[in-house]
Formats: sequence, C-alpha cells, structure tokens
Amino acid sequence: MTYTTGEKPGKGTYRCLHCGQLVELKSDDDQLPPCPNCHHEKFEKVS
Ligand SMILES: [Zn+2]
Repeated sequence: MTYTTGEKPGKGTYRCLHCGQLVELKSDDDQLPPCPNCHHEKFEKVS
C-alpha cells in the first residue's frame, strides 16, 4: 500500500519510497507533504 502527497492517510509515520526520509503526520486531518528531502510524492506507512 502506497500513499501520495495530498492524501490524508491518517496519523502515523510514513517513509519516502525514493530516499527513505520519514514523515510524521500528527493528525488524521494532516495531508502528506512532498518529501522534505527529495520532493518525491510516494510514501509507505511505517507505523
Ligand atoms: Zn524522499
């Protein structure tokens, strides 16, 4: 299961599929941002 920038996949930690950067969403209402490191837009859920 992968998630794309702009989706609201829910609170949790996501890993960029391109560089491995972790992004934390603190709220179920937060949108996934572009990767802060490489600006890639695909993520997988870590926890
Ligand atoms: Zn990245």
